[in-house]
Amino acid sequence: MERIRALRMANTDELTGLLNRTAFRKIVTEYITENSSADTAMVFLDIDHFKSINDILGHAAGDEAVKEVSEILKTAFRSGDPVARIGGDEFLIFIPHAKEADLETRLKRLLQDVHVTKYSDDNEKVTLSMSVGCIICAGQNMTCEELTGAADKLMYEAKSAGRDRLVIKTV
Ligand code: GH3
Ligand code: MG
Repeated sequence: MERIRALRMANTDELTGLLNRTAFRKIVTEYITENSSADTAMVFLDIDHFKSINDILGHAAGDEAVKEVSEILKTAFRSGDPVARIGGDEFLIFIPHAKEADLETRLKRLLQDVHVTKYSDDNEKVTLSMSVGCIICAGQNMTCEELTGAADKLMYEAKSAGRDRLVIKTV
């Protein structure tokens, strides 16, 4: 039991139970080494204006919001695609077999699902949203780091274009 607990602690993010960055990188790198990265996708998600969510609702409610988003991600990707929390409000999803049209539909639905409305003690209203970057690797070989960097760049394009949106690209 002690060993299992130690293993779980080493691989998961404590707040959400999602994979942590190290475990995620290991899983994805192993997959790419054995299967090549053709047809894979990497999704980078970042909660919009999370600092003001903390300011309005308080830090504890901010943590609850992170947990809620994590549960939504687990439900949306319950097929076993690895999902990680890699920072305060940053998440990664690796999809081994991706088709752009299908993935775009799923991620746009996810953006809607994340629109949960919260109220502060003095009834101030906050609706959660995320900016999402998704890179689909069609032919060339890319490492986990390259996929993550490309998805991060697309996520920043989604932020610059006004947030609460998806930027998806096949290379
Ligand atoms: P942007 O739309 O540009 O992403 O704005 P943002 O406010 O979300 O900016 P950014 O992603 O840079 O900031 C994340 C903030 O999340 C910083 C910190 O205040 C907060 N934060 C980081 N980790 C945690 C955590 O574990 N719990 C809570 N409640 N807040 C956290
Ligand atoms: Mg953010």
